[in-house]
Amino acid sequence: LVSRKRQQADTIIQLGSAAIGGSKPVMIAGPCSVESYKQVRAVAAALKSAGVTVMRGGAFKPRTSPYDFQGLGLEGLQILKEVADEFGLQTISEIVDPAHIETAGQYIDVIQIGARNMHNFELLKAAGEVRMPILLKRGLSATIDEFLHAAEYILSRGNTQVMLIERGIRTYERATRNTLDISAVPILKQESHLPVLVDVTHSTGRKDIFAPCAKAALAAGADGIMVEVHPNPPTALSDAQQQLTIEEFNQFYAAIQRSGLL
Ligand code: PEP
Ligand code: MN
Repeated sequence: LVSRKRQQADTIIQLGSAAIGGSKPVMIAGPCSVESYKQVRAVAAALKSAGVTVMRGGAFKPRTSPYDFQGLGLEGLQILKEVADEFGLQTISEIVDPAHIETAGQYIDVIQIGARNMHNFELLKAAGEVRMPILLKRGLSATIDEFLHAAEYILSRGNTQVMLIERGIRTYERATRNTLDISAVPILKQESHLPVLVDVTHSTGRKDIFAPCAKAALAAGADGIMVEVHPNPPTALSDAQQQLTIEEFNQFYAAIQRSGLL
């Protein structure tokens, strides 16, 4: 079902005014974690004035260490909803438990399935049962074929609104957090009709190369970019090193727009 052979036309996912997979690539930005109403509101206000309409923010955080901040859970989703309603934004947040898939739609517009859960087949099946957009991240060491099969799990249950997002894969290279697999973009676009996005934050883990990597992704045919933004990154409860300040985000976004790729 995910194959371009099966469906020639690009799948387009309408998120408010943004048509993901359409002719104009989209920028998706927001904090790594939802930490407070005030924090999310500050980001939302900045996105709104920059003209960005889709905001991300994690409420259920799959952290490497059980002692690290695990997210605000349901309260985090409520904060996203409150702020999104106030600013007229579309929201994306990760869901990690199949039991939360059904209720997520009351709070957010897109369910993210994180890299660590790309192989969680019960979660994929649950995501296939709802009728709302799913943002599926590539697994930490998933092949393109495994990535497409994970998407197939969702489509096979009747949910056709799936977006794929390359977020870097694990290699021997330590100069970046993961290795951004740019070649996955044109391959996924050729093999599938689903929208393909690139997460420059988790793939590179390096603010200094977000802009060139985003440009490379768009030049390779990506339908959108995801980047993390925080009002005060050094105090962030997750990914403090690699979230842009609001000012850095504005510069990043302006640079991408100047390139004419967005
Ligand atoms: C995220 O986007 O919040 C996240 C945890 O990313 P990933 O699943 O790609 O590691
Ligand atoms: Mn993060």
